[in-house]
Amino acid sequence: MSTKTATTTRADTDGATATVAASAFNLSKVYGQDRTQVRALDQVSINFAKGSFTAIMGASGSGKSTLMHCLAGLDTITSGKVFLGGIELSALNDRQLTRVRRDRIGFVFQSFNLLPTLNAKDNILLPLDLAGTKVDRDHFDGLVASLGLGDRLAHRPAELSGGQQQRVAIARALVTRPDILFADEPTGALDSKTGQALLDYLRTSSHEAGQTIVMVTHDPLAAAYADRAVILADGRITHDLPDPDADAVLGIIRGQAA
Ligand code: ADP
Ligand code: MG
Repeated sequence: MSTKTATTTRADTDGATATVAASAFNLSKVYGQDRTQVRALDQVSINFAKGSFTAIMGASGSGKSTLMHCLAGLDTITSGKVFLGGIELSALNDRQLTRVRRDRIGFVFQSFNLLPTLNAKDNILLPLDLAGTKVDRDHFDGLVASLGLGDRLAHRPAELSGGQQQRVAIARALVTRPDILFADEPTGALDSKTGQALLDYLRTSSHEAGQTIVMVTHDPLAAAYADRAVILADGRITHDLPDPDADAVLGIIRGQAA
């Protein structure tokens, strides 16, 4: 039995959702009004299995970030429903949503978004400080060790390389033990070697620790680290590939760009 009883119980009343970490049903998101209206997501339905590692791909403007933001409760939706496990995010009020986001969702941005005045350790611990939650020392030590940050904890972001900053951002997103980790182009600002090390870490945390991960990437090589690649075009899912390899993904993306 999971320790996350609330989720398990609620999910069990809904059958299939017991094994689903996050999902969207007929999700649409429209920005702006009248003639400046943009339909960023058009009736998207998708499930993310617990413990899975999914890459979200598609041309610039296809709706990747919007999908992640809606799934993570960072943006309101226009219609449809969004669930985190058995919890309907789109039905929560602001206070409930803030809490769910804080306790159950990790988010990593391409631009790291670390606080410049805090050292690495305090950046990692920030979500717990904000929540007034005590740190789980073993979990913190494990994250720091597996991300290779042990000798960098006293450094401020400006004193860290891009790869180190992004690893701090990952540790910060995982320190609360989120049900799901969303990462929006986490390797976009990294050189390829540093990026591969990060992708290796994500794949390992999914395969060995059961961490559910949804990652946006432009890079077919990065998508090949995932168990699944979902490809968007104009706010709709056009492909959903199990065990994607870089060539297959590249072929589809090239076809769509043509
Ligand atoms: P991607 O991440 O795939 O590049 P986005 O999800 O950022 O795409 O954007 C999808 C579409 O929605 C684009 O046409 C974009 O211009 C539009 N869009 C995104 N955010 C906003 C916003 N805050 N206001 C207006 N339009 C937006
Ligand atoms: Mg984007």
